[in-house]
Amino acid sequence: MSEIIKVEHLRYVYNAGMPDETAALDDVNFSIEEGDFVGVMGSTGSGKSTLIAHFNGLNRPTSGKIYVDGRDMWASGENLREFRFLVGLVMQYPEYQLFEETCRKDIAYGPRNMGLSEEEIDRRVREAAAFVGLTDELLDKSPFELSGGQKRRVAIAGVMAMRPKILVLDEPAAGLDPEGRDTILSQIKNYHEQTGITVVLVSHSMEDIAKYANRVLVMSHAKVAMYDTVEKVFARAPELLQLGLSVPQVTQVFLMLKAMGLDIDTDVYTMPYAVKTVLKAWNARHPDKAVPLPSVRAANGKGGAPDAS
Ligand code: ADP
Ligand code: MG
Repeated sequence: MSEIIKVEHLRYVYNAGMPDETAALDDVNFSIEEGDFVGVMGSTGSGKSTLIAHFNGLNRPTSGKIYVDGRDMWASGENLREFRFLVGLVMQYPEYQLFEETCRKDIAYGPRNMGLSEEEIDRRVREAAAFVGLTDELLDKSPFELSGGQKRRVAIAGVMAMRPKILVLDEPAAGLDPEGRDTILSQIKNYHEQTGITVVLVSHSMEDIAKYANRVLVMSHAKVAMYDTVEKVFARAPELLQLGLSVPQVTQVFLMLKAMGLDIDTDVYTMPYAVKTVLKAWNARHPDKAVPLPSVRAANGKGGAPDAS
């Protein structure tokens, strides 16, 4: 595996020299391996949006470096335009930026900007629309006739249609109902699995991160607080709580059981693994009435080691 994004001593200051000067990023260092699905979390104001806007050159570091695909983004001689195509950034509430008269034209906007042929543009629009489940009929409608979730999917398709090497999404499920959330997030997961491209997804839902990501970057007060596999980060639940982040509800139940004196593992953050952990605890106590354990992986089934039992 190779590093697709590398961040070195990144610092970013808003309103430098003014009374309200804010260092939104302060000595941030990490790298992302090609093909990873990284979940970015952190409380409001911790620097998540500021960070990811650096990946395609929307923000320019106050100091420090960003390498994308091995290239120093701000080195002289580099062409920023190329990074805009290499890294597809879906900002928060992207549906507000739809403006074309049909969804098809909106999705085609990025590929057209890249100077591709009409045939290639058409191919990419179809491919991207399929990834987010937009029918031909919807494609010919005005974005303004669509539901909130559908508009959001048009906006995401517009970025996918540029076939970036890295897809970066800032809270893509924010403001949607539970069904809309699940639809969009599973489409992104499916896109990741089918294309193998790197995905960086900002979310404040621990449940979503547990379900979709294989690595987690936790931001706190302009710095990286944790960066590890989902398993290892969620095993630090008490620290996460101190950072003002909630752990999945199912994890909270296990932490409470432990606090009540029960001898039970607490690195539980999905329902199937919760069932297995309860059965394991039962079997330890009642070997005479032991129940066979279901075969469940510790995490989301990707990136995590299979559970040893
Ligand atoms: P997050 O996405 O994690 O909520 P942000 O990156 O939006 O965090 O913000 C990080 C910090 O930078 C916060 O203190 C926020 O108030 C500040 N900030 C964000 N955007 C601006 C801006 N345009 N001007 C001034 N300060 C900003
Ligand atoms: Mg934000």
